[in-house]
Amino acid sequence: HTVDVADALREAIRVVPDFPQPGVRFQDLAPVFARPDLVRRLAEAFDETFHGTYERIMAVEARGFVLGTALSALADRPLVLARKKGKLPGPVHRAEYVLEYGTATLEMQRDAVRPGDRLLVVDDVLATGGTLAAAAELVAAGGAHVAGFAVASTIAGLGGTESLAPAKVYSVLPAG
Ligand code: AMP
Repeated sequence: HTVDVADALREAIRVVPDFPQPGVRFQDLAPVFARPDLVRRLAEAFDETFHGTYERIMAVEARGFVLGTALSALADRPLVLARKKGKLPGPVHRAEYVLEYGTATLEMQRDAVRPGDRLLVVDDVLATGGTLAAAAELVAAGGAHVAGFAVASTIAGLGGTESLAPAKVYSVLPAG
């Protein structure tokens, strides 16, 4: 079953060389998002992997919102948004992380989680792991716990999975 999802995903993802800059093999999920059946099967694979271990889903802006929303609806669990700086009103937790050039900031509304909640953190692609590590900081700042990380695809050789250890990372695909 999971093998089928991986095969379908591999065929659907469009790899764009040298976007948005030279040397990057961009994993374009637009053709995946055009396939509701595939999005549903991704959400099912995420839930099967972490079933019973999480109360809430944290989705990372922006493509993580798509997969996180599908999982939230499927698993009937509340969605928590991790957004780029300055988008969320009210008191927020904030986590800064390093990009190849400069830094970025993720924010979460302080009332989005309850202490002790277990959150499954969802994004589209795992590369260095900096983004998901920042998301995990937000979870911890809210007094909650990371149940694990779920992504559609992982870029091999960047150490992302290792950087998130000992947390469990589930990726449907190693990126091609
Ligand atoms: P990182 O923080 O290095 O793990 O990068 C992960 C974040 O950047 C995710 O939100 C991805 O959407 C995006 N990203 C990084 N590398 C790629 C890539 N090759 N293709 C598509 N998205 C990427």
